[in-house]
Amino acid sequence: MSLPTIQRAIVVDGAGGPEVMQYRTDYIVPTPKEGQVLVKNHISGINYIDIYFREGLYPSPKPEVLGREAAGVIVAVGPNTDTHGLELGNRVIWLGTAGYSEYTAVAVAKTMKLPSGISDEQATASFLNGITCLALSHETYKVKPGDWALIHAAAGGVGFIMTQILKRIGAKVIGTTGGPDKVALVKSLGADHVIDYRSPEGKYWPEIVNSITGGRGVDVVFDSVGKDTWEGSLEAVKRKGTVIWFGNASGPVPPLPLNRLSPKCVKIARPTLLGYIHTREEFESYAQKLFDLILHDNLKINIHKVYSLDMVHQAHKDLEGRNTMGKLLLTVTE
Ligand code: NDP
Repeated sequence: MSLPTIQRAIVVDGAGGPEVMQYRTDYIVPTPKEGQVLVKNHISGINYIDIYFREGLYPSPKPEVLGREAAGVIVAVGPNTDTHGLELGNRVIWLGTAGYSEYTAVAVAKTMKLPSGISDEQATASFLNGITCLALSHETYKVKPGDWALIHAAAGGVGFIMTQILKRIGAKVIGTTGGPDKVALVKSLGADHVIDYRSPEGKYWPEIVNSITGGRGVDVVFDSVGKDTWEGSLEAVKRKGTVIWFGNASGPVPPLPLNRLSPKCVKIARPTLLGYIHTREEFESYAQKLFDLILHDNLKINIHKVYSLDMVHQAHKDLEGRNTMGKLLLTVTE
């Protein structure tokens, strides 16, 4: 199969707002190296982390093609590569960099063959987020049946899946989110309580959590909002509870004096997904768990909207503007 030498891609040259993302039609198609495959991407996932890289909150070499995951088809294999059973023509989902482009050279170690029962759209709408939710709820803090768990931004890409996973484990779930439509969505997932933290009464959400849990507080907080919620999360967690900060949607958590944790003997964690899927075995195990949830346990997937590659500015504005529920996708090739 002959491959093109140039392709369409969204390229970022310097840090900034959505306007720094350039739609290019002359970006070089990479050649896969040892340990890599070349994937012709169909759909790329848009994740909040793309905004951190675009804005420079997470530093990265520029120019850079954004995008941390995509689904597509393997069109070439790097030299001397152990493909772990992957073959040319396989439909796959991958985690890596440069998903907002037609072709990406990705590590075999982070590429999974897709089961026939999972579409490219379902895969990109759930993969990075779903594996994150599984790792956080199984390893960062092992959620137990009967635990009280608080999840912020519960209607978002991660929150939508986390709420369902926590309920499947048997936890009692309190979700926070902004606005009546989002509240209704999170309730429909089975959350026990949903607080609209942007409503006048919801502003006092730590007190509401306190009263829901009979003054005890929650066993664990999953906080991806950061700057605006971290104080409240420390307030809402129980004595000997755990707060997991895993994102910065409102900005990073400021430096925290450790003695703030002493009065309630609170544990804190600041995990990142890649730390849990370092080996191929770990990656496959979590990917398979997620596929099983989709194929056999009716895990719901919510696609907010599918954008074309040249609509990426709007997609980022929508995500940053808190106007989205579930996952945003980018069609890269038809
Ligand atoms: P979301 O779909 O959850 O979008 C972010 C949501 O955060 C918004 O919809 C909004 O929901 C809420 N929010 C609160 N305050 C703000 C604010 N000031 N500006 C914008 N949004 C705000 O995004 P993702 O599902 O892609 O990611 C969710 C979080 O999970 C991110 O912080 C991301 O970095 C993190 N993450 C971390 C990983 C890790 O390895 N550590 C891996 C994957 C994701 P509402 O209106 O309900 O408040």
